[in-house]
Amino acid sequence: MQKLKDILFKIDGRGYRAYKQIKGAYNFPEYTLYIDHVQGDPFASPSRLRIRVSQEIAEFSPELYSNKPRKTALEDYIIRIFSMHIKKDIAKIFGTGKSGIIEIDCGKQEIIERTACNINDEFVEIRFYAGLPARGRRVLGEQCIKMLFDQIPKLVEKSLFHKNLDKAELKKFIEVCEDQDCLRSQLKKNKIVSFIKNGSILPRRSGVSDKPLPEANTILFKSPPELEVSLKTPNIGIVKGMGIPEGVILLIGGGFHGKTTILSAIQKGVYNHIPGDGREYVVTDVSAVKIKAEEGRSIQKVDISSFISNLPLGKNTKEFSTANASGSTSQAANIIEALEINTRLLLLDEDTSATNFLIRDSIMQQVVSKDKEPITPFIDQVNSIYSKYNTSTIMVMGGSGDYFEVADTILLINSYLPYLATDKAKEAIKNRKDIRKKENPASFGSITERMPLPNSINPYKGRKKKVKSRGIHNISFGVENIDLSSIEQIVEPSQVNSISNIILHGLTKNYFDGKSTLCNIIGKIFDDIGKYGLDIISDSYIKYPGSFSMPRKFEVASAINRLRSLKVIQK
Ligand code: ADP
Ligand code: MG
Repeated sequence: MQKLKDILFKIDGRGYRAYKQIKGAYNFPEYTLYIDHVQGDPFASPSRLRIRVSQEIAEFSPELYSNKPRKTALEDYIIRIFSMHIKKDIAKIFGTGKSGIIEIDCGKQEIIERTACNINDEFVEIRFYAGLPARGRRVLGEQCIKMLFDQIPKLVEKSLFHKNLDKAELKKFIEVCEDQDCLRSQLKKNKIVSFIKNGSILPRRSGVSDKPLPEANTILFKSPPELEVSLKTPNIGIVKGMGIPEGVILLIGGGFHGKTTILSAIQKGVYNHIPGDGREYVVTDVSAVKIKAEEGRSIQKVDISSFISNLPLGKNTKEFSTANASGSTSQAANIIEALEINTRLLLLDEDTSATNFLIRDSIMQQVVSKDKEPITPFIDQVNSIYSKYNTSTIMVMGGSGDYFEVADTILLINSYLPYLATDKAKEAIKNRKDIRKKENPASFGSITERMPLPNSINPYKGRKKKVKSRGIHNISFGVENIDLSSIEQIVEPSQVNSISNIILHGLTKNYFDGKSTLCNIIGKIFDDIGKYGLDIISDSYIKYPGSFSMPRKFEVASAINRLRSLKVIQK
């Protein structure tokens, strides 16, 4: 500690590069500070710091992290407190560029496993970023001393010492997370794909905020009596809510009555939410995938023939490739690719689907004969996707009653609340005259898996490996740009950061060998993560990464599938 201070005094006023000397480990009275990487100049990404507090001092009792959801929640909570105190208590040191910034990778509404904090029986470790202070390109030694010897110790004391945390709030945070995992684990045996607790707040504050609408302006969720189930939780006993049964489920109802809001809550239910989010007891099968039309995406040898065949010019749809998909072909490919990674639940919203992919009504069938229409609409395959792959579909459909025929469960959403309307809807179609013809003679085909070719996944730009994620929508990968803006179940930039590194890890390990299927490759990478932790995906030179958070296999596959240079062989 004294050594660090001495260096900072000595280099005060010198060129910024002099900061490089402080890389290293320093013993403070209550913790060890590791300066793992020093930024090259005041405008570069902030320096990487890490702090380890031994459990003798931190004193987190083992039951706070005794299982996976508890550990994830505790780590996540510590980061939130650290982050909160950065905003609340730290008077930012001013200077050039990123001087004085202290940052940590902190979650928002979701609780997700992340590398910024790690707790075990020995220690609690936190990883964060600091902009070492400078004026122009000169070291501000005294300001840096203020940062490292005054500001950061305060943050550590307030967030990494159990005795200084709000015990009740922490307990609640951990228990809510554990309960969600437990609820989710009961879905399958109850033959439901999603559970929404009565009293949940589903609507969000705005189109750009994921925070809940204030309770005063909200109709709280209430299950229709016929679908109400009771599930057990370890911490709050029995909870009641709507269990959405497997099969084909329709959400119907008038415009602006809350259909999309319910579907959005369901699609985010693959993650655990923080207390107060309103969706903290909304849980969905972890393999649920939101499917959209995504005009313009590239597709590489996906067998979409169950949906689309006889394209103009005889284009092959058993190995369908395009650099510029249409609404319908992209939606078909999105479904097949999700099935390739073994999804059990597809989520579709008419708002973001291609109409001609969803339906073809009887009048249209009469006027445009089947041999002029390449598309077998989703309506004619949705049942066999369920019978063949046990993959259910929840779908928002306010615009066409044709789907009543194929639905197992129909929920009418009226003024934000669901009512069971299956019988009424089935009754209504009984007497119809304009019966549409089912368009698939053959049932849904098998899923052809694909084996990516390693040379087509090239992280190099010139002689340099260049892979960088930007926000939640973009990865620049070598000379390519991967567009993830249609992938709605990515919730934070750190997941995208992980996705890019997961692809790199797969390349380094030669998992992409031209002979393994995409599903197997991603499986292997996730096995590595399970065994060695998320740190394993880091580039070799960053040993203690601080901004990875856990993505799902589906989003990793989505990224690879959207790499425009991708080439595959079908199995
Ligand atoms: P739909 O898809 O049926 O057209 P939306 O789900 O887009 O409707 O919801 C319409 C509006 O109603 C949105 O602004 C949404 O935030 C709001 N909303 C949804 N559910 C509720 C609720 N339970 N309480 C209050 N407002 C809600
Ligand atoms: Mg809608």
